[in-house]
Amino acid sequence: MSINCVIVVIGYNYIEERCFMSLIVMFGTFQKIEPCLTMLESPEPRSGHRMCATDNFLYVFGGYDAAKSNILYNELWRYNMTTKRWVKLPDNNRSAPIECTSNSMLLWRNNIIIYGGSGYPFGVTNSSKLLMYSLKYYKWIELVDKIHETRTKCKECGCSTTLHESPTAKYGQSMIITQDSKLVIYAGTTGTAFVQELHTYHLYKQRWKSYKFCEQHSLAQPKSRYRHEGILYKNDYFILGGCVLEETFGFEKIHSLDISRMLWEKHCCSSDVYSGDNKLPQPRRHHSCTLYKHNIYMIGGSVYDNNFLDVWLLNLDTMKWKKDFRCFPYAVRFHAAAVTSAGCLYVFGGVDSKQQRVSDLHVLWLEPPSLLEQSWMAVVKLLQQNRALNTKVLMELGVPKTFLLRIDDSIPPAG
Ligand SMILES: [Zn+2]
Repeated sequence: MSINCVIVVIGYNYIEERCFMSLIVMFGTFQKIEPCLTMLESPEPRSGHRMCATDNFLYVFGGYDAAKSNILYNELWRYNMTTKRWVKLPDNNRSAPIECTSNSMLLWRNNIIIYGGSGYPFGVTNSSKLLMYSLKYYKWIELVDKIHETRTKCKECGCSTTLHESPTAKYGQSMIITQDSKLVIYAGTTGTAFVQELHTYHLYKQRWKSYKFCEQHSLAQPKSRYRHEGILYKNDYFILGGCVLEETFGFEKIHSLDISRMLWEKHCCSSDVYSGDNKLPQPRRHHSCTLYKHNIYMIGGSVYDNNFLDVWLLNLDTMKWKKDFRCFPYAVRFHAAAVTSAGCLYVFGGVDSKQQRVSDLHVLWLEPPSLLEQSWMAVVKLLQQNRALNTKVLMELGVPKTFLLRIDDSIPPAG
């Protein structure tokens, strides 16, 4: 019997009575995760933070709360999806940036990468720093391009690239990472101006590069904007929504950057036939977008004073929008979302329909989890009920080592 089968067999007794409908109830709607009673600390309510996920941990950086004298939370939290415990990660040399709202954030190998962000008042102090938090050494490191002398190359058409040219200090931009460890960063605002700039940063070569487009090749370039979302699918970096002062962008036409040719494209979107009436999501900013398989899942956001609770799917193979039957429990904006490779979507914090910052954590399985995942969840639940969720018991049960790591909430001692 394979070691994964051990978990399946143990968990199966627990779940065998559950029928398909109960799986839908359990896995098909947003569930609020109640805080663990024995948990010593958890993040305060906040908005404007960012979040990313591995298959067992959520990482939340930054955020702000107007109701608490505009407090800025320049802190990094880790949430364990198995033990349901939050831990604030160490920042012994106090290097976390105070510009900690509307940053860009992603995971690269065993590191968290943060770019840009604003302090408070918004737009007065912006960051142009690219920072890496090592999840091995629990330290912030600034990534720089050591060469200051820029070098511009022009193509015949008029497009140009400038090596070693870094972005403006800004916030609300989007950022993705390519398979060859290159960050791509688009747009954002300085607080007084919305910028249309496009940059790459190669994490191994430690080099910035900026891209400018000729008249012909800027036709498909999206307008400058802030608080849009950026998603990489196959070879395309999609730009979704966002706003400038006088306009919030919609979803009838979506721009993407072909990251191998570094050229913009424009895609016409339509509505999935089951959604009817060519229905598309309303224009919005401050929303969240996550990618699972070939679908973007877009949640909430706002336009002017109108906040949304709807969930939309964009099929990136057909460019068709479909309204999901599942809604978020309340209208929400300035929240953060992240999804695991198993299709477990988490939403944390934001501003709710009462205009209050929240610290709610919701989970939604985008499709029923595999039998292995369901069985692991059942094993964890049973052991937690018996206060026996520990490495020793799991090893005695023959649970594979990869699962043992999932219950590890340790952090190095301060100092
Ligand atoms: Zn050109």
